[in-house]
Amino acid sequence: MLTFGGCDPEPARLAPGAEEAAFAAARARMVKEQIAARGITKARVLSAMAQVPRHEFIPKAARAQAYEDWPLPIGHGQTISQPYIVAFMTAALDPEPGDRVLEIGTGSGYQAAVLSGLVAEVFSIEIVAPLARRAEADLQRLGYGNVRVRAGDGHLGWPEAAPFDAIIVTCAPEQVPPALVDQLKAGGRMIVPVGSTWGAQELYLLRKTPGGLERQAVLPVRFVPMVTAPKGK
Ligand code: SAH
Repeated sequence: MLTFGGCDPEPARLAPGAEEAAFAAARARMVKEQIAARGITKARVLSAMAQVPRHEFIPKAARAQAYEDWPLPIGHGQTISQPYIVAFMTAALDPEPGDRVLEIGTGSGYQAAVLSGLVAEVFSIEIVAPLARRAEADLQRLGYGNVRVRAGDGHLGWPEAAPFDAIIVTCAPEQVPPALVDQLKAGGRMIVPVGSTWGAQELYLLRKTPGGLERQAVLPVRFVPMVTAPKGK
């Protein structure tokens, strides 16, 4: 059927109220078709994914793709992860309402926002200072008051706020940074993509037990490398 005007599916061209409604509908579809359909069943995680406005963490030019099944550029050569990966890592972390969680690789701030509603406090470190500042401002603007962002090298963790119930690393180190293991509580969980080569990383779920670190490979993934200094600086 041909329609003229008034039926433009491009959210960016709609009036503000209608634009938000279109984003909400796209988000509901994302949760159903990309996340729940692929086996992520934790109700709390699905609800967080359904609530957080992913489009608010994406540069305006790419917002029409905010709820599509792929990563998107956020500037400074970095990306916001694919929604399914965010949901998968969040579910694997098994977040509890009282938890204090450390994230390495704030990027856009989206993953931190998803965690914000699921746990007590989120501490997030980003090595590219302008990204850290932008994410911090976006998280504040959108009301995610329990997230703290710091510009710095995640290899060192956040010693003053340690120990953490859970740690999520969203960039890929060659080996799990020892400081992060140290800053994990006994019984704590860490989800981390390990491996330096693009296409040859594995997402590991680690658990700190009295007998040592339990390690389980859960998914092959592709993340940007965890660096020790911002590119080009
Ligand atoms: N979690 C983000 C996506 C992460 S992209 C989101 O929800 O949007 C990976 C991020 O890790 C990039 O922004 C990159 O700059 C950052 N990064 C890379 N090495 C790092 C390090 N050593 N410490 C902290 N952040 C790092």
